[in-house]
Amino acid sequence: MSNQGIEGFGDNILRLDEQPISSYFGCNTFNDNVAKERLSHSTYIALKSMSAGGGSLTPEMAQEIASAIKDWAMEQGATHFTHWFLPMTGVTAEKHDAFIFWDKNNPGSVIEMLSGSQLIQGEPDASSFPSGGLRATFEARGYTAWDPSSPVFIMGGPSGKTLCIPTAFVGYHGEALDHKVPLLRSMEYLSKESVAALKFFEQQTQRVVSVCGAEQEYFAVDLDLMQQRPDLMLANRTLQGARPPKGQELEDHYFGSIKDRVLGFMQELELEALKLGIPVKTRHNEVAPNQFELAPIFEQANLASDHNQLLMELMKSIGERHGLGILLHEKPFAGINGSGKHCNWSLATDQGHNLLDPGKTPEQNLQFIYFLTATIKAIHRHGGLIRATIASAANDHRLGANEAPPAIMSIFLGMQLSQVLDVFERGESKGTAGKGILNFGIPNLPNLEKDATDRNRTSPFAFTGNRFEFRAVGSSQSIAFPLMIINTAVAESLRELNQQVKQDQVTTADALVSIVKILRKTLGETKSIRFEGNGYSDEWKQEAERRGLPVASDTVAALKIWEEPVAQSLLLEGGIFTFQELEARLHIRHEQYQKALNIEAQVLKEMTETLLIPSILSDIGDKSGSLRSHSNFRSTLPLIHKSIDQQAALLDQAQGELTELKKLLNDAESVSDMYARSKIFGHSVRPAMDKLRQTLDELEELTSAAYWPIPKYRELLAPLV
Ligand code: ADP
Ligand code: MG
Repeated sequence: MSNQGIEGFGDNILRLDEQPISSYFGCNTFNDNVAKERLSHSTYIALKSMSAGGGSLTPEMAQEIASAIKDWAMEQGATHFTHWFLPMTGVTAEKHDAFIFWDKNNPGSVIEMLSGSQLIQGEPDASSFPSGGLRATFEARGYTAWDPSSPVFIMGGPSGKTLCIPTAFVGYHGEALDHKVPLLRSMEYLSKESVAALKFFEQQTQRVVSVCGAEQEYFAVDLDLMQQRPDLMLANRTLQGARPPKGQELEDHYFGSIKDRVLGFMQELELEALKLGIPVKTRHNEVAPNQFELAPIFEQANLASDHNQLLMELMKSIGERHGLGILLHEKPFAGINGSGKHCNWSLATDQGHNLLDPGKTPEQNLQFIYFLTATIKAIHRHGGLIRATIASAANDHRLGANEAPPAIMSIFLGMQLSQVLDVFERGESKGTAGKGILNFGIPNLPNLEKDATDRNRTSPFAFTGNRFEFRAVGSSQSIAFPLMIINTAVAESLRELNQQVKQDQVTTADALVSIVKILRKTLGETKSIRFEGNGYSDEWKQEAERRGLPVASDTVAALKIWEEPVAQSLLLEGGIFTFQELEARLHIRHEQYQKALNIEAQVLKEMTETLLIPSILSDIGDKSGSLRSHSNFRSTLPLIHKSIDQQAALLDQAQGELTELKKLLNDAESVSDMYARSKIFGHSVRPAMDKLRQTLDELEELTSAAYWPIPKYRELLAPLV
C-alpha cells in the first residue's frame, strides 16, 4: 500500500469511516510498498532480506535507504528523527534530532539530511538507563542499532512530526541492554530448531517465526478526577479507596454497549494505530466497570512487541485528548478485576503455516503433536521461570487473586485434545485396519476449533484450538520478555527432541517409529504440567504442590527461580544471554520491584499525612462541634456520639500504622543486599501498606463526603458519559 495520493490524511482527521481502512493502513510507516517505489531494485531486495533476518547492506545502500526515508518522512511533515528503543525499564525511549546540517555551499544556512550511519547507529546518552551493572562491567556507552525487521514510522506531536527508527540497544561489546535483542535471539534459536524438526516431516522450510496477538486490557477514568489523586498520578493505582456501593457484581459491563465518550477515544486510537500499521481489530468492554480491551491481529513476535509498546503510548496520549486517564496498571482498583495482557502465541513457517494447527492427515497430525509436545515439555521444565518473567509488584496483586490466572504455571489442553494425547501416549491405535502410519496410533484429529463450552479461563497457559494463550502477563508489561522465555524454552525442548530422534534413527530405520516412540515417552514424563480443572481453587494449590510444580506466591519468591541452574542453563546455552546479561536482568527486576513498592509507600505516606488525616480530623472536629452546640447531646444522641468516638479511635489507629510504615521504610533504606531489600519491601512494607489502607478505607466510610479530599471509587468508576 502506498501512502501516495491519500489526500488530506493528516492529524485533523479523527474519523475512522472517512476512507476504508485498507486505503490508509500503515500510511505512517515506510512499509514494503513505499520501499519498493523509492529504492533501486537491488537495494530494495537487500533491505527485504535484512528485514527477514538475513544479509547485509553496503554503505552505499544504507545511504540510499537513509535518503529515501528522509525524503519520505519530510513529505509527511517530519522535521526530526529518533532512534526508538526499548530499554529495560519496559517503556520506550527516544532522543530526537533535527534532520539539519550546516550547508557547506551556503554559509549560515542549513540543509536536511539523514546519513546512512545516522540511520544504522545511534549513541544515546545511555548512562541513565537501567543496566543492572552491565555498563560498569563493560563500558559506559550504549548504542542503538537499526532493526530493519520493524518498519520506521512517523509519530505526530502537538506541533510537528518525528521519524522513529526502531532500534536495538546494545553496549560497547554487543551486550544486550534492552528487551528486543534477547527476543530476536530467541526467535533465531526457535527458528533453527523448528526448521530442523520440520525436516523429519519432509518440510523444507527456511524459517519459522513465533507469532503473537496481545490482547490489551485497560481502565479509562476521567482525567480531571485522576489528577486529584496523587496515588493514580504517581503510582498508577489507588492506594486507598473504599469499595463502591456498586462494583462489578451485576456483571453488566462485560460486552456492554460502549459509551460514546470511550468510543470516541477508541476510534481515534484505532485510526492512529492503523496508520502506524498496527492491525488493531477487536474492541470491547471488559468485566469491571470502565475496563476495556483492545486486540490486534497477531503478528511476528518482535513486531507484535514493538506494536504493543507503541499502542500503550498512543493509548495514554490519545486518552488525554479525550479527557481520559488510561490506566495500564495490573490492579488499579482493589475489589474489582485487574487487567492482563493475554499473549496468544504460536509458531508459523515462512509460508504462513501455523505449526500449532492440527493437520488434515495423520502425518500432519504427528507434526502437530511434535510441536505441541515440545511446548508441553517446555512449560513442564520451565514453568517456574516463565512465571518469574511476569512477576512484578503490580502483577502480584493479580496473579493468584481469584479473578486472574493462578501464580502456578500449568497447561490446559481441553478435554478433546487431552484424550487424544492420552490415547496416543498409550499407543491405543484407533482405526488400525489399514497399513502405514495409522498403525502407530497417530490420531486422526477432529477439528479442534475452540469451543465456547470448553474454554478454561482459570488456566495461565491454555490451548485455544491453534495457539496457546498465555494469560498471566500483566497489562503494563512489555511482552518481549515473556515471549523471549517461551520461545527459548520451546526451542530447547525441540532441540532435545530433535537430538533424541536423530540418535534413535541410528538404530531405527523408520523415522516415524522413532518420533512416535519419543513423543509418547515425553508426553508420559510431562503429564504433571497438564491441568484441566479450576485453577482458582485452593485444591489446585495443594494438588500443584503434590505434583512438585513451583508455587511462587509473589515476586520475591518468583525471582529466586531465576537463579536455579535449570533456568540459567536454558538462557545461557540457548545463547540468549551471557552470564553478565542474565545477572543484570535479575538485578534490574529486584530494583524495579523495590522502587515500585517504595514509590507506593511514599505516596501513601504523604497522602495519609497531608490529605486524609487532616480531612478526617476536620470532619471529626466539625461533627463534635455540632454535637456540642446541640444541648444535652449525651443523653439525646448517644449513638452519634459513639460513632464519632469510633471514628476518632480509628484515626488514631491509622496514625499508628502510618508511624509503623515510616519506620519500615527507614529500615529498608539501610539494607543493601538485593534479596534482603526485596524481602523487606515485599514482606514488611507491603503488608504495612495494606493494613493502613484497610483502616483508611473504613475511615472513608465514616467520614462526611464533603470532607473527603480525593475522588472516591464510585466517582472514578461511574460510567463515562
Ligand atoms: P478471545 O477474547 O477469544 O481470546 P480475541 O479476539 O480477543 O479472542 O483475541 C484473540 C487474539 O489471538 C488476537 O490477537 C488474534 O489475532 C490472536 N490469534 C489468532 N490466531 C493466532 C495464532 N495462530 N497465533 C497467535 N495468535 C493468534
Ligand atoms: Mg479477548
